Amino acid sequence: MSVKFTRALALVCLVCLVCLLLTACAGRTASGQPSPPPAEATPSPEPTPEPTPEPTPEPSPSLPPEDYVAWGPDQVVEHIFFHPVIAYPQWGFHDCPASESQKKGLDDWMVTVDEYNKILQALYDKGYILVNMNDVWSEYTDENGQPRMRRETLMLPPGKMPMIFSFDDVNYYDYMLEEGFTSKLVVGEDGDIWAQCTDPYTQETFLTQDLDAITILDKFVKEHPDFSLNGAKGCLALTGYQGILGYRTQTDRTLAPEEQPAWEVQRQAERVAVAPVIQRLKETGWYFGSHSFGHINLSTHSMASIQDDTQRWLDEVGSLVGETKLYFYPHGARPDDGDDVTQTGPEFQYLQSVGFRVFASVGIESYSKIKSDISAVICDRLHPDGTTLRWSRDRYLKFYDAKDIMDVSVRPDLGYKWAD
Ligand SMILES: [Zn+2]
Repeated sequence: MSVKFTRALALVCLVCLVCLLLTACAGRTASGQPSPPPAEATPSPEPTPEPTPEPTPEPSPSLPPEDYVAWGPDQVVEHIFFHPVIAYPQWGFHDCPASESQKKGLDDWMVTVDEYNKILQALYDKGYILVNMNDVWSEYTDENGQPRMRRETLMLPPGKMPMIFSFDDVNYYDYMLEEGFTSKLVVGEDGDIWAQCTDPYTQETFLTQDLDAITILDKFVKEHPDFSLNGAKGCLALTGYQGILGYRTQTDRTLAPEEQPAWEVQRQAERVAVAPVIQRLKETGWYFGSHSFGHINLSTHSMASIQDDTQRWLDEVGSLVGETKLYFYPHGARPDDGDDVTQTGPEFQYLQSVGFRVFASVGIESYSKIKSDISAVICDRLHPDGTTLRWSRDRYLKFYDAKDIMDVSVRPDLGYKWAD
């Protein structure tokens, strides 16, 4: 476990280093002034989105239908995660002015809209069904009166296999806005979630449901309701240092005291603006987790900085999205190096003490273990992206065939290993 973990960790560290480098200087203009927060959602959608009839959400039945099949605690619940998807791959991989290493980062850690569409279809065809991560484990009181976690038995339609989706960094960072991604989520006139997008070639701003991982999955589940158990979609793992969901809701400690009041006015307006988006996401099967405030590496930060980061996340993000027990390690890096099931270090204990119970890293399988000395679960997720499409086809064949997914016509020519 430690070998595979280290490998995964090294991979993920790379991308996140890139993320941080990219974002560290992205929030300021050359004059050192904070770049203005994005204008409120003013773009007029053209054409006005046609209201689509909302299917009545399936009520969460207290008793599942009789033919449903038990998926027991010893059976694997697969868990894969995505970053935001690349809406304009030709721009992101080739034409945008980002550095070569930034473009390489996109290739390594992201999938394109087309690839994402094909992955969803393949998972559906294989018989996977999305489940809510909060339903997979629950807390109970053991015989000694101690809170502990346990795996639940899931009741699934016959022939279905459960899968968790999580989406890291759904923050619409400044760098993503420049590299061919959508720019924020909004509630459309039809009451549904839409993505705001600016075409990097024409600068035209419009609303779409076809270029963002969230809205694409919404549409897919509408068309294939049996891809989702009780309407579950995925967990949005959010940082906070550039706000959330495309809204710049963060405080800025780098501003001079005289600049703070104006920032605070804008910040509060952004908090108001994002609230209905959060509400609609929750109503439509989405839920939230922490990805730390500052995308910090928990394996190297001090206890003091982990506490400061966590409190800031709770204040600035948790106050908007509500309580969550789900924590997604940035860089895939766990605190308490070598931590396993029976020993828990102080940083982990601290995170658990503020309410987190399920701690997700990144790995080569959907591994999970319930800790015995504290009420918590540790787990790994797989990661569809350029690295695994190119080099891990075999491992992902149970989900899809990379040969059918990877868009070699637009990705840079960096090779792949697909044994026939
Ligand atoms: Zn991340």
